[in-house]
Amino acid sequence: MADCRICGGVLTEFYDFGRQPLSDAFLEPDKLEGEFFFRLAVGLCSDCTMVQLMEEVPRDKMFHEDYPYFSSGSSVMRKHFELTARKFLETELTGPDPFIVEIGCNDGIMLKTAAEAGVKHLGVEPSGGVGEVARSKGIRVRTAFFEESTAVEVAKEEGHADVIFAANTICHIPYMDSIFRGIDALLKPNGVFVFEDPYLGDITQRTSFDQIYDEHYYLFTARSVQAMARRFGFDLVDVERYPVHGGEVRYTIARAGAREPSPAVAELIAEENAAGLATLPTLEAFGAKVTKIKEDLVALLTKLREEGKTVVAYGATAKSATVANLCGLNSDLVSFVCDTTPQKQNRLTPGTHIPVRSPEAFSNPYPDYALLFAWNHAEEIMAKEKAFREAGGKWILYVPEVHVL
Ligand code: SAM
Repeated sequence: MADCRICGGVLTEFYDFGRQPLSDAFLEPDKLEGEFFFRLAVGLCSDCTMVQLMEEVPRDKMFHEDYPYFSSGSSVMRKHFELTARKFLETELTGPDPFIVEIGCNDGIMLKTAAEAGVKHLGVEPSGGVGEVARSKGIRVRTAFFEESTAVEVAKEEGHADVIFAANTICHIPYMDSIFRGIDALLKPNGVFVFEDPYLGDITQRTSFDQIYDEHYYLFTARSVQAMARRFGFDLVDVERYPVHGGEVRYTIARAGAREPSPAVAELIAEENAAGLATLPTLEAFGAKVTKIKEDLVALLTKLREEGKTVVAYGATAKSATVANLCGLNSDLVSFVCDTTPQKQNRLTPGTHIPVRSPEAFSNPYPDYALLFAWNHAEEIMAKEKAFREAGGKWILYVPEVHVL
């Protein structure tokens, strides 16, 4: 039995997704041996209510030179992070010689705007390939995992930060004690630590179970983040909801007593409590819906194969590893997956070994059905692929339930 990584409390497992691979490890067709697998299961801490994975995957297996997720691939996300940076420039970064640090800056999607505004910045990014892309845009990047020792070095060499920001990264990091000691070492007395991640409230409401994979160690709520912040000497002082990536919350954290919490914090926590969000009955009901989606999706794809229809998948996302491996999809059911990322093309999907092709393969010729793995970018993709529907093609979605559009 695992203990909670935040408070040491007892974890109760509520869903087991079975044997799963590294979600971002796209394989060369002639190098299939030694593929890494682990048991993907999620549990709830009965003390601090943090929802987390039961098993931890070593960080170097996930974040390395060849990490294939490039944040700037989506125009919606480019806009989102440009607005994020502009907001910081207008609020937290108006004092003398302001300094912003980003944990997991990836290809520089957010820091680009700060760099262009001439504001002192630093990205801390362990994955060498994506960090190099950020550097090529004139962004300062340190190739390292953010943790206490990194933060202490950055503070010594560069001074203290007004803002430490992270998007879709804090939920990837099990060792929160070291992270908060690092924040303490690097943040100015009245600075803010701001991070945004997929929100458990949206995940349970939409049954977006594919937000659960090796990299997403924690599924946060305002209540669990508040408890975590307090444990490490900080306060949760603001929360904001965003529709990106299927629903996220941006948490603003300050040193205990440094800032007055906004009413939004108590409001969201009250909403979570009223809904019984991080409780076993809610999470077990979520698990039952996941099982139903799995059964419905396998039944639909099997029926389409029997009818001789062609089915391909769209978007070789990290999150699709969960649905593909849970449902045992293979190239009999889904001929290939198309994706714009060159680093994924001509490789095989993790665990299920479905070929990944370039987007040109999608229209050449169009399939009868396209399984939308990248459902979090549905609007952007469906607008871009208007001709597919016009040619009679249909989209298959599996969140919040299996349906055809
Ligand atoms: N912030 C970008 C965004 O929202 O699109 C990138 C998100 S990507 C899913 C997660 C990033 O976090 C990866 O680039 C990964 O290398 C980085 N990462 C993982 N662990 C980290 C750590 N301990 N310190 C800093 N970055 C980390």
